[in-house]
This record gives sequence, C-alpha cells and structure tokens, in this order.
Amino acid sequence: MITRLRTLPLHLQILIALFLGVVLGLSLNRGYGMPRVVLQEDNVRIEITEDIGGISILREGSPPIQASDIKTLKDHFPEAHQLFLEHRPVPTPALRVALYSKWLGDLFLRLLRMGTVPLIFTSLVTGVAGLGSAQRLGRMFSLTLGYYLLTSLLAITVGIVMVNLIRPGIGAELPIPSSHGTVTHQALSDVFGQLLGNMNPVASLANADFLSIITFALLFGLFIVVVGGESGELLRKVFAAGFDVMMAMTTAIIRLAPVGVFAYMLYATAGLGVQVFYSLAWYMLTVFLALTVHAFVVLPTLIKWVAGRSPLQFIQAMSPALMTAFSTASSNGTLPLTMASVEKRAGVKNRISSFVLPLGATVNMDGTALYEVVAVLFIAQATGHDIGLASQIVIAFTALLASVGAAGIPHAGLVMMAIVLQAANLPVEAQGLIIAVDRVLDMCRTTVNVWSDSTGCAVIARFEGRES
Ligand code: ASP
Repeated sequence: MITRLRTLPLHLQILIALFLGVVLGLSLNRGYGMPRVVLQEDNVRIEITEDIGGISILREGSPPIQASDIKTLKDHFPEAHQLFLEHRPVPTPALRVALYSKWLGDLFLRLLRMGTVPLIFTSLVTGVAGLGSAQRLGRMFSLTLGYYLLTSLLAITVGIVMVNLIRPGIGAELPIPSSHGTVTHQALSDVFGQLLGNMNPVASLANADFLSIITFALLFGLFIVVVGGESGELLRKVFAAGFDVMMAMTTAIIRLAPVGVFAYMLYATAGLGVQVFYSLAWYMLTVFLALTVHAFVVLPTLIKWVAGRSPLQFIQAMSPALMTAFSTASSNGTLPLTMASVEKRAGVKNRISSFVLPLGATVNMDGTALYEVVAVLFIAQATGHDIGLASQIVIAFTALLASVGAAGIPHAGLVMMAIVLQAANLPVEAQGLIIAVDRVLDMCRTTVNVWSDSTGCAVIARFEGRES
C-alpha cells in the first residue's frame, strides 16, 4: 500500500495526506477540550490553560501571561513558569496527539529551511556568473533587468492592494500564538544598512542573515565575471555543480511534504476544527485574484502597448509552456518548452529568448513575489499584528529579494518565505498551515512566472527590433 502511494505523483500524495490529516484531526477535535486548572491563592483566582496555541495564565487583577511554549515561559516569566510546573494541566489524549504531530510538522519545516541558505547562494552566484557573455550584450542586459524589476514590483503592488482590500487574515484562526501590537519590523533604512553594512559573509551565513547573503552572492557572482579567465571559469563551474546538488537535495526534502502536510493538518484541525478551512479559503482566494489581475490585466497591457502585439495571440502561442508550468509547478522544468514556444510559435528571435528566458527562470518570478507578500501579510493579519505602511514596504522589498533568490522548482517560494517572515519579525511556524494549500497556489504562481518571462521576450524583442 505504502509502496503504491509512493509511486503516485507528489501532488496527489500531498492531497491524500491532506485528506487523511483533516479526517483524523476533525475526529480528534470532538474529544479535544482544553485542559485547564483553576486555583485559588490568597483569594485570588488563577486559571492555567495549555493548548496547541501555547500556555496562558490568567491571574485576577493582573495582566494575562501568554507564551508559545514552556521555554518562552521560563525565559520571560520565571515565576509563572514555576506555578505552571507545579499545577500543569494534564493534556487530553487528543491534545497529546496534536502536539506530537506539530513536532513532526516542525521537523519537516526545519529540514526545508536547512537548505535555504546554500540554495539561494549557489543559485544567485550561478545566475549572475553565467552572465559572462551578457556584458557584451550591454543594452539588452539592462533592458531585461529593468523589465524584471518593473514587473515584479507591479506584481507586488497588486498583491498588497488585494490583501489590504480583502483582508483575508482578519478573524482567521491559525494554530499559532497571536499577539497584538505593531510588527517590530526592521526599518527600511536598517534593511539597506544590513544590505551593505553588515557584510561579513561568514557571520551572515552563520546567522542566516538573508539580506546580506543575497547581496554578497550577487557581488560574488559579478566578480567571478570581472575576474574571468581560468579562475572565473573554475568557480563558475564549482557553483553550478553546487547548485545542482542543492536542487537535488531540496527536491528530495520536498518529497517529504506529504508527511509535513499530514502532521500540520492534523494539528490544526484537531485544535480549530473546520474553522481552519474558512481561514485558508480567504487566503487562497486573495492569492488567486491577485495573480489573475497581474496575468490578465497588467502583463497583457505591456504586451499590447509596449510590445505592440495582440495579447490573445501571444497567450495562444505560449499555451503549451503555460500549461506545462501549471502542471509541473517548475519554471526550470518548463524552460525548454518556454524557449521552443517563444521562438517557434511566437516568432521571437533566438538571440533574445536564449538570453531573457534562462535568466528569467531564475530571477524573474512575479507570481512568487506576489504570493510572498500576500502570504506574509495574511499571517501578520491573522496573528493580530498591526502592519503599517513602513512594515509593508519592508515586506515588499524582502519579497522581491525572496523571489529573486527562489529557485525555479516546486515549493521554492515556500522555502524562501522564511526570509520575509524574519524581516517582519513574524512567527516562522505560521508557515506550517499554509503548506497544506501550497501546491495549488504554486501551480498558479509558476504559470504567472513563466508568463512574465515570455512577456519579457516580446517586450525586449520590440526594443531590440527597433534597434536593428
Ligand atoms: N515553483 C515556482 C517556480 O518554479 C517557484 C515558487 O515556488 O514560487 O517558478
């Protein structure tokens, strides 16, 4: 039975795991209850509760104490910790199962995050170092980068507008401790400071300080090109090989996704029941709508007015690549077909597509950038964090970097989300639940990623055409 399940495609395995987790979780939800101990000390009523969301201690006349786990309680409220140890409520069997499955889900997330730093690093260095010949292409290089930046920023703006209009996270229940207050985000100036100021590569690698890592990787790649010659070529090859290995490793870890999805769905539905689905439905709807606006309004406008082509004909020409992107959720995997469609069906010169598309498959990910902002702002809303304009700008900026750093393989955007959550000081464990619906969203955002790369070819071809 298990062997037969393992031969199914990954997305079907994830779907089955999701279903099993939900069925088991919902049946546990019935006998779930919430263990609680009520004490009376010096005529003051104290109530201690422990739930999947964490520990809370309510003492009459004092502000409530809330901690996500025992360690946090011990570190911040030693007195309350002592009280908790003496009178800890006995978890119900259902809660115990939910806590174990959370542990299993967390393990999967930690494995996934383990590869993030080397994956971004090798991906960026390889991407930039591979541009050796691009320097000669000069004008096309800056045009292409300008196009990537413009469309990614437009996608992020669409995402931010949608998430602020729909507000999917308000009132959503996620099984993570919520806190009320303002996100203690890093100011934008800090982010820039961190980009350029804290450039000790060893320290940034050790601290998983993503912004510095990305900047260092970009510069390192650039200088591989500058140094060139034998050393440049050697390093380029070494990093390309490292990138292949990291891609293989990440793909192998992602094969464990059904276990993670099962564990997190069980944990979430055991605690929150069907409520979880309402929360996720709004989140998914927001991502879908925003992607639709970007794919059917923003990009076609560029095709029509900048590239001077019919968006309808262009989308027809690109349909084999777009459908493959949708079903594989991998821009890298789709690349050969994207190139073939752009050249043979849409009539773009190979000189342009062979430059714009491979680079685009690595760094131009409009769908991913949009998804990052929506997901992170959804988490911020659901955990009761106030997100003012400044925080949203920081989130937008980091989402852009995360999309540049994401590899073109399934779920890479999810792996990168840690960067954005970290920059906004949001709980990284909130990612757990949204993994469950990530595959469907990944298919949609990958299609938008490939669509934007193809649109880029049409736009650049127009400019280059005028030149010749
Ligand atoms: N799967 C996406 C791609 O290949 C990346 C992502 O996970 O957002 O383009």
